[in-house]
Amino acid sequence: GRVFQYQPYQPEIRHETIAKAQADSCMEKYKCVLFQAEEELKQLIEGSELDEEEKKIFQAHIDIVQDEEMSREIEDEIRDNLLSPQWAIQEVYERYIQIISKAKNALIRERAADLKDVCQRLIRLWDGGHENPLSSLAGDVIVVAQDLLPSDTAAMKTEYVKAIVTEVGGYTSHMAILARNYGIPAVLGVADIMKNTENGQKIAVDAKDGKVITHLTVDQEKQYQVMREEYLKKISDMRQYLPLVPETLDKTRIEVCLNIGSADKSELELESYTDGVGLFRTEFLYMSKKALPEEEEQFRVYKKIVTMYGERPVIIRTLDIGGDKKLDYLELPREDNPFLGLRALRLCFEMKPIFKTQLRALLRAAVYGNLWIMFPMVGSIGDIRFAKQIVEEVKEELREENISCRTDVKVGIMIEIPSIALMADIAASEVDFASIGTNDLCQYLMAVDRLNPSVAKYYQSFHPAMFRLIRQIVEEFGKQKKPVSVCGEMGGNPQAVALLAGLGVRKFSMNASSLASVKKMLSQMDICKAERMARTVLELSTAVQVEEYIKSELPD
Ligand code: PEP
Ligand code: MG
Repeated sequence: GRVFQYQPYQPEIRHETIAKAQADSCMEKYKCVLFQAEEELKQLIEGSELDEEEKKIFQAHIDIVQDEEMSREIEDEIRDNLLSPQWAIQEVYERYIQIISKAKNALIRERAADLKDVCQRLIRLWDGGHENPLSSLAGDVIVVAQDLLPSDTAAMKTEYVKAIVTEVGGYTSHMAILARNYGIPAVLGVADIMKNTENGQKIAVDAKDGKVITHLTVDQEKQYQVMREEYLKKISDMRQYLPLVPETLDKTRIEVCLNIGSADKSELELESYTDGVGLFRTEFLYMSKKALPEEEEQFRVYKKIVTMYGERPVIIRTLDIGGDKKLDYLELPREDNPFLGLRALRLCFEMKPIFKTQLRALLRAAVYGNLWIMFPMVGSIGDIRFAKQIVEEVKEELREENISCRTDVKVGIMIEIPSIALMADIAASEVDFASIGTNDLCQYLMAVDRLNPSVAKYYQSFHPAMFRLIRQIVEEFGKQKKPVSVCGEMGGNPQAVALLAGLGVRKFSMNASSLASVKKMLSQMDICKAERMARTVLELSTAVQVEEYIKSELPD
């Protein structure tokens, strides 16, 4: 495909003054920018993609653009104080943002995000910039970028994206997980790819071998065309395994569930081939919005999914923001080590109203199906108890308000921090279930940033230490007959699934794109062999040995 270099828009505000003679022309241009902003917002509202809640937000943005008082102040700054127009816009908006951010009422405080958004829009238009180009792609491209945020990936017109290449990111970064979910080949951590390519250049991306070929010979081009056809055929042949009941040769039944990030049709296409949803990453619901989704909106999404799955469990994880997942509209303190910082449950404890809104929507939606609530980034028994206490408070509030909700919802945890893995015996007595998040578990166990390409070789999810720790979790939960699943990327890797099934895991949750290959592997595996392999792996010394061993046992 052809390269499309993505550069995120970054306003560069020059704090300069203008000459008095320029004031009139600047005022003219400022009025033009206001008009363009209004037109852009109207087009957004008229676009069919937005729901009613989102339309209301953009309508409010139009009101801000039309606000006469703010415009008058900006004009004064340009005319009287001779500030450059971008500076004047930023100055006045910042003034209002400051006032609003101090409001006692949380709803008013949240409006600061709208002001920031409008301010960015005006400054971008002043610079002649357009909307996020990834959301308006019109033809097939290979997206090449220094970095892509999960929100960039979520905004992307995926049907036109043939592949993604970035300079940063790792196998379990959320951008990679999203790409895998959409079935888009991606190669991450390619140093200087922006410098070494240009827009429109024809390149080949071989995501199986992690290669990017930037200068293609005619022969190579032909060769890659053939490889692509073969690969697409293999994927389509693999679909024959989708309807299989997931069980091993000796009829050990393994539950196979989906990881999802929305209630969109495309995410739920394979629903009938699964035993439920093993992980709904709700933060993607928050990331695709311009403001915090309200209770009603969340309730509708959760209700839709649980209704669709009927009796099958749907595990919905509460908000997991922080790390590489940010919300444009929610300002969080800058942290040196965001993966070790105020992330997920810790952030929810700090922002209780946001947490409670989500819990209200979940408890209400639970009436319509088999909804299980799961907390991310649990580090201690204290975290579990505090989270459960908030759930109880929310139940009580709903009861007082006479709002129908379910009070016997199963509550569980993600095991992704080693401290809670080592406390699995006590954790198991405090919760109804657990799911092992191997992406973070590996990051925290091996002390390797999951996004940093320069330490990617230390991120070893097949390290014997991972299997030893997982064995302990599975044994402790097993003793108390509490279900435990695996929902990190290992849960969709057929080789890892074989070893984990050998350790006793009976439930896996994965991206839709892994479903067929995992079912295929299970249908050809004997559980005794899986157990034997797992026993061997627990005794090996290095990740390389584990990988070589598993390749020798499962050559396919
Ligand atoms: C994990 O950490 O394994 C997990 C499933 O959660 P996430 O990838 O969203 O952090
Ligand atoms: Mg995680």
